[in-house]
Amino acid sequence: MFTFEPVGVIHSCFKEKFGIPRQPGLVPEARAVLELLPPYNRAEAVRGLEGFSHVWLTFVFHACFGAPWKPTVRPPRLGGNRRLGVFATRSTHRPNPIGLSALELERIEASPGRVLLHLKGVDLLDGTPVLDIKPYLPYSDSLPAATGGFADTAPAAPFEVVFGQGALDGCAGQPEMAALIRGVLAQDPRPAYYAKGDGKRDFGMKLGDFDVKWEVDGDAVRVIDIVRVGL
Ligand code: SAM
Repeated sequence: MFTFEPVGVIHSCFKEKFGIPRQPGLVPEARAVLELLPPYNRAEAVRGLEGFSHVWLTFVFHACFGAPWKPTVRPPRLGGNRRLGVFATRSTHRPNPIGLSALELERIEASPGRVLLHLKGVDLLDGTPVLDIKPYLPYSDSLPAATGGFADTAPAAPFEVVFGQGALDGCAGQPEMAALIRGVLAQDPRPAYYAKGDGKRDFGMKLGDFDVKWEVDGDAVRVIDIVRVGL
């Protein structure tokens, strides 16, 4: 058996799993801060990392820890009803709940005892424990000739996102919040089975400091209300 301890923790705009993009980079406006934990929170531990535009993070799917593994899973990408091997998909249900994401590194804040990595395009839940950070090496990690099987292209962003009358008042003065809401909802965050039938039409999700209420209207999503939580 192995014992690992996190080197850092993610403070993300995603306070719940519902709505998190299925892969990094799909919603560039999705930001997080990786805070290094003692004893790793030393500026010299990230010296030189500022020279890289992206980093690999290995992390723990802490919110689905302990779920039993199965040899096959049903990727949402295939409508959630076709089973593929657990090693052939990026499903969160894995023998070891360890994830791997390549993320854009916006900047690093480093002072004695406090090291923060500002990240963009995250697919990580708030509180995600991070096991390791590695620089992304384009000469080695970027493989333009690679083939992507059943996931050869980015998933479609099927929805046009419209904001109902007054909906934007709730996050007035925070255009990055409106861009984040638009990016997340365009991806159709509903579980795959909703995409088939009419089903439920109105939804709510927590994003950053806000509760976002929205409804599906054909191939558009209408944001109905944005309310700052905790007020
Ligand atoms: N890019 C990573 C990989 O391939 O290993 C993650 C891909 S996985 C499909 C991304 C999903 O994991 C997100 O949409 C979210 O639902 C889920 N997720 C993110 N952080 C998590 C956490 N800490 N615990 C459990 N699930 C998490």
